[in-house]
Amino acid sequence: MKYVVVSGGVISGIGKGVLASSTGLLFKTLGFRVTSIKIDPYMNIDAGTMSPLEHGECFVLNDGGEVDLDLGNYERYLNITLTRDHNITTGKIYSHVIEKERKGDYLGKTVQVVPHITNAIQEWIERVARIPVDESGLEPEICIIELGGTVGDIESAPFVEALRQFQFRVGVENFSLIHVSLVLVIHGEQKTKPTQAAIKDLRSLGLTPDLIACRCQEELEASTVEKIGMFCHVGPNQVVAIHDVSSTYHVPLLLKEQKMMKYLCKKLELDGNKLSQSAL
Ligand code: ADP
Repeated sequence: MKYVVVSGGVISGIGKGVLASSTGLLFKTLGFRVTSIKIDPYMNIDAGTMSPLEHGECFVLNDGGEVDLDLGNYERYLNITLTRDHNITTGKIYSHVIEKERKGDYLGKTVQVVPHITNAIQEWIERVARIPVDESGLEPEICIIELGGTVGDIESAPFVEALRQFQFRVGVENFSLIHVSLVLVIHGEQKTKPTQAAIKDLRSLGLTPDLIACRCQEELEASTVEKIGMFCHVGPNQVVAIHDVSSTYHVPLLLKEQKMMKYLCKKLELDGNKLSQSAL
């Protein structure tokens, strides 16, 4: 199983969901079975009791799970059927760990965020990633994990730590991280400082981005890409530009044009026979 994590910095609502769905779609076009998990670091068990004014409408899955709208994106982009367990929230993880504690599963131990919560998150991800989600009924090969919120928030800290440990648990060749950041345009100039700060925050938490996806209201200039590469310590081929488009269904094409899959497949050591160079 290969895991691709999509996290975000600078602001919320930056387009992580659209990028995660688009990445999944591109893997699917290469012939892989793809599944996805959405992590929402709020304390609610699910989105069902949250005001639509605050959170947007919740999406109802086939099993009755009331979840974040992003799960709807995944189902449509990837033509899959997800379950309520594909949406992990802080509430679900804590209630799972507290239930185990009451049953005596940790007898004698002090139950703590690290390692008990972080282990529960990793076990949950590994269990859910294996659930067949398409008509083939087979185990998926690639799991896209979207980490909601912004890296650096108190809420997402246990999930960031769990993912930091997870990269070693599953092996670095099975784990890839795409960090979505924002390039602001002020007085006609593309500003890279917020992205530099976001990547610094990410690295300080032990996560290294394989790709930096830059949302921008306009197309990124070559000099901006170069600058981000240099100051964020990645190659220019690891910076992906995603400008505002009229329909989010154009985003997969933007990613394909920039040969994002070529980099990801190499990083994840994905099976050469399945991939024709032209498809990448
Ligand atoms: P997040 O998951 O980071 O909260 P979403 O993926 O839900 O963000 O996107 C937030 C909003 O921005 C959505 O309304 C989405 O349609 C829009 N959006 C995302 N990417 C783009 C893009 N490249 N161009 C235009 N709108 C976009």
